[in-house]
Amino acid sequence: MIFSQVVLAPADPILGLTDTFKADPRQDKVNLGVGIYKDEAGQTPVLQSVKKAEAILLEQEKTKNYLGIEGVQTYNRVVQELLFGEGSELVASGRAATAQAPGGTGALRIAAEFLLRNTPSRTIWVSNPTWANHQNIFETAGLTVKEFGYYNASAHDIDFDGMMTDLANAQAGDIILLHGCCHNPTGIDLTLAQWDLVANLCADKQLVPLFDFAYQGFGTGIEEDAAGLRLVASKVPELLVANSFSKNFGLYNERIGAVTVVAHNADEAVRAFSQVKRTIRANYSNPPAHGALIVSTILSDAALKALWVQELTEMRERIALMRTLFVQSLKDEGVTQDFSFISRQNGMFSFSGLNKSQVARLKDEFGVYIVGSGRISVAGMTKANMPAICKAIAQV
Ligand code: PLP
Repeated sequence: MIFSQVVLAPADPILGLTDTFKADPRQDKVNLGVGIYKDEAGQTPVLQSVKKAEAILLEQEKTKNYLGIEGVQTYNRVVQELLFGEGSELVASGRAATAQAPGGTGALRIAAEFLLRNTPSRTIWVSNPTWANHQNIFETAGLTVKEFGYYNASAHDIDFDGMMTDLANAQAGDIILLHGCCHNPTGIDLTLAQWDLVANLCADKQLVPLFDFAYQGFGTGIEEDAAGLRLVASKVPELLVANSFSKNFGLYNERIGAVTVVAHNADEAVRAFSQVKRTIRANYSNPPAHGALIVSTILSDAALKALWVQELTEMRERIALMRTLFVQSLKDEGVTQDFSFISRQNGMFSFSGLNKSQVARLKDEFGVYIVGSGRISVAGMTKANMPAICKAIAQV
C-alpha cells in the first residue's frame, strides 16, 4: 500500500489559521490573519462594479467554449495598460506578452516553471521576510530560494543597505522577487530613489526582476503604486510580472491574475510567450473565463472603471483610517510602546513586532487571530472590533 507511507502535511501558516478560527466557538473572535478586505460592517461584499459587470455578462454571454491557452485577449491587453500605463512604449513595441493566470499564485507558479525549463535561471532571491507562500511556490516548482535582507526590526523600517549588500552576491541570470507595492508582510515599500538603485543593480549584474504585484491601488493609488515597476522596466531589458486581482477587485475566489513576460525585443517576447503557453497547457490547459471577463468588462468601460476606482479608493482610505485608529486605540488602552510606525506602512497589513508567544496568547486567551510573524491584517479591523483587539494587545 502506498498511502500508508504518506506523512501528514503541516497546516498552512495563513489558511490553516482560518480553519482554526472557523472551529473556534467564541462569539467575539476576530480573524486578522488572512489578507481579506472587510468593510465597516465586517463583511467582504462583492464590489458594485463587479455586480454590474456580471449583469452585463449574464445578458451577453453566448458560449462556454474553451478560451485560448493565454485566456481572454482583451483582458490581457487591459492588464498591460494597468501595469505599464496607457500608451506605454514598452507595450507598443511588443516587448510585453501577458497570459491570464489563476490568481497571483498561479501566475507565480507559471513564471517559475517557465524560467526553470527555458532559461539558465535556477535561483530566486526573496526578501526576508516575505509572503509565507513564496518559498513554497518556488521550491515546489524546482527553483532554489535564497533570501536578501529587507527589514530592520528595531527601527521598524527598511534595511536597504542589507538588501543591496545581499543582492551584490546574486549571479547573472538570478531572479529577484520584488513586491510591486504594499510589501507583504512588512507594509514597507522602496522609495523611488531606492527603486532606481535596485534597477541599476539588476541592469549592471544582469539580474532578472520578477514583480509580485498583488495590491495595486492599496498603497497610494493605481498609477502611483506602479511607479516602481515602471521605473525598473525602463532600465532593465528583461523582467516578469505576476499580478493578482484578488484584492483590488475583491475577486478572491474567482482566481484571477496574470503573468507578463517583458523581453529585450518583440521577437524574443514571442518566443518566450510560446513557452509560457506551453507551461500553462501542461498545468491546466487553459484558464476559466469568468474573472477575466469581469475585469476586462470593467476596465473597458469608462463608467464602470470610474466606479471601480472609487470603490478601490474607499477600501484604501478605510484601511488608512483603521491604521490611525489602531495606533490611537493602543495608546488609549495604556500601551506605552510606540506603534506610530503602523500608520507609515502601506497596504492591508501591519507588521506589528508582536512575538510568537504574544501571538499565541492573543489567539488562546482573547480569540484574536494573527499570523505567527506578528503580521496583522488591518483590512480586517473595524470600529466595532477595534476596542477588543487593542485591549487584548495591551494585555499581552
Ligand atoms: N502575492 C502576495 C504578496 C500576496 O499577498 C498574495 C495573496 O495573499 C498573492 C500573491 C496571491 O494572490 P492570489 O490569491 O491571487 O493567488
